[in-house]
Amino acid sequence: MSGKNVVLFGPPGAGKGTQAAKLKDLLNVPHISTGDMFRENIKNNTELGRTAKEYSNSGRLVPDEVTIAMVKDRLGRDDMKGGFLLDGFPRSVPQAEALDRILKELGIKLDHVVNIAVADQEVKDRLAKRAAIEGRADDADPKVIENRLNTYKNQSEPCLSYYRPQNIVRDIDGIGTIDEIFGRIQKVFS
Ligand code: AMP
Repeated sequence: MSGKNVVLFGPPGAGKGTQAAKLKDLLNVPHISTGDMFRENIKNNTELGRTAKEYSNSGRLVPDEVTIAMVKDRLGRDDMKGGFLLDGFPRSVPQAEALDRILKELGIKLDHVVNIAVADQEVKDRLAKRAAIEGRADDADPKVIENRLNTYKNQSEPCLSYYRPQNIVRDIDGIGTIDEIFGRIQKVFS
């Protein structure tokens, strides 16, 4: 199997969380979701959670310095040695640069950026559906959905241009059933 140091990338609503749950089992590596980490902090009403809430409720990114510090702390743990699945990070070019620095310090190299590609309209439909099912505060309001998509376009998508010259971006067609999409992802690791 090829390397197991993985970033899972894609717009909100691409199905990153669903695919991450399957991929972490396949690779047997820790799943590190910054969205989940923020939601956990929001639930426990920590200081980090109160900051995160302010941004995520309006569809904006939590500031890089806060997010990078949180991820750096997590990546420093011993369970990362056999690989990792980063889900939702990096989401800006400064975060991608910070990740490179963190990994370099740890003597680790990134193997794959798995990019789940889904068109805008499909993303909007999915987010609206998810809002109805999961009741996530940041999915409920069409304006917030719009903000999250704009945030993705303006801040997150440029990460792909950052990574392409390194030849580690694996583009995955994100349209299809959960199993079809997972089948495509599996090929990256076979
Ligand atoms: P997610 O579940 O990955 O869609 O994340 C939910 C929200 O958490 C996002 O809309 C952001 O407000 C925040 N968030 C998650 N990951 C990051 C990140 N890498 N940088 C900044 N904010 C993030």
